[in-house]
Amino acid sequence: MNRPDDVFLKILDVCLQLDFFAYQIYLGFSKEDKMFDLKKFWKEMSDEEHEHLLYWKALKKHAEDGAIPVLFDNPEQVLSELQEVQEHLNTYMIRIELSEDPIRDSFLLAFRIEFLLINPELLYLFRILPVTGLDTRAPYEQYENHLKKFIDTLYSLVGISPELELLGTTIMKLWNENKKLMSASYEDILTGVLNRRGLCNIINPMINLASRNVYPVAVLMLDLDHFKNLNDTHGHLAGDKTLKSIGSIIKKTIRKSDIVGRWGGEEFLIFLSNVNDRTATKVAELIRKNIEKETAKYIPITVSIGIYTDLVSEDMENPLNLFIKNADSALYESKNNGRNRVTSFKREEA
Ligand code: GH3
Ligand code: MG
Ligand code: MG
Repeated sequence: MNRPDDVFLKILDVCLQLDFFAYQIYLGFSKEDKMFDLKKFWKEMSDEEHEHLLYWKALKKHAEDGAIPVLFDNPEQVLSELQEVQEHLNTYMIRIELSEDPIRDSFLLAFRIEFLLINPELLYLFRILPVTGLDTRAPYEQYENHLKKFIDTLYSLVGISPELELLGTTIMKLWNENKKLMSASYEDILTGVLNRRGLCNIINPMINLASRNVYPVAVLMLDLDHFKNLNDTHGHLAGDKTLKSIGSIIKKTIRKSDIVGRWGGEEFLIFLSNVNDRTATKVAELIRKNIEKETAKYIPITVSIGIYTDLVSEDMENPLNLFIKNADSALYESKNNGRNRVTSFKREEA
């Protein structure tokens, strides 16, 4: 099983340090007479950085437990880019102290700092904690507002340079583009739930955590019944709509800390942490019934579900694969026994 990656922990450290730096800088600006009526603004910005700090700390703690997915394609490069900027920040500081236009230069420095965190991979980290249910903070939305506040305040300043305005616009545009990039790589476009890559990235660390803390987890495989008929009768577009609504019915039914994604064409995977087979079955039944009830109002559809619940043992070579394989065979039984039902994997008697 994966161990927490050293480079990844270092990246989190640098992010922590950068936010601490930002926090101090903005706090300093808020006490600076040269800032005139922007003092309140900088105080707000420093308070928000303080929030981010708490977030990075929580993230680091979970990363040390192996509970956070390591997603960087090239972590060394991310780390060295971050460190490079970190080294330059002190020079920027000195420049502001000597500056004839401290307001312009303070915004330049702020953008320099904020710019660092607009990296799709870091952005994803902002998204990850609420999804895993390990923390209820929603730093992602908060960070977006943080950036917007910068740009709005900048625009409201009379006589600020056009270059700085352009920089503000560029940063916001980059944020939006990276947001799209990030979503595209982890979310299923049609249904809005996680895609297969997103599922694996989130479930594997949750499995590590379950193994370490010795509690059982469950995988539910859900497959639409006779979906081909629905497509044939009502058309592919109606089929797509059905898939979309099933994604949202599942989301509405499960807890925030449970994970759902689209495993394949008309198959959804649900992952539950720290549940026994009875609870997993109850959740599955609830999902099954809700889908039957809700879709009856439009185009009726039912689903079959297979469940595998177990402790994660150290000697499972690829626990996720094993859970999926067994959930799949339980699903197969649901299908064989007439569909629109939930089946738990039966262990062979030794
Ligand atoms: P069963 O109850 O045995 O699962 O029958 P089924 O018809 O659901 O299963 P089958 O595997 O024969 O067909 C699956 C269908 O799902 C066929 C395929 O066109 C449809 N499907 C897969 N992905 C999508 C999609 O993204 N949109 C739509 N509209 N249909 C899809
Ligand atoms: Mg299928
Ligand atoms: Mg099917």
